[in-house]
Amino acid sequence: MHCYECLQAGETREAVGLCHHCAAALCAEHICVIDDPVTGGVPLVRTVVLPKKARLLLCGTCKAALEQPRSGYTEYIGIEH
Ligand SMILES: [Zn+2]
Ligand SMILES: [Zn+2]
Repeated sequence: MHCYECLQAGETREAVGLCHHCAAALCAEHICVIDDPVTGGVPLVRTVVLPKKARLLLCGTCKAALEQPRSGYTEYIGIEH
């Protein structure tokens, strides 16, 4: 599979992973790796962020979209998932 971002720019590069959000294939240059905190604890009583973090791969577009301020849009984004 080829990198989607590179294809948009008229290039062809082998993909190394997929965006978790939009499933676009991405090369090493275009893929973004972020920490995905894993929570544990008792539901509805206490949420604890566990020390080991999971990995989440995102493309630049989705990373920027997910990181934008979302006050007031939280419920909408929740529905979108
Ligand atoms: Zn690329
Ligand atoms: Zn994406």
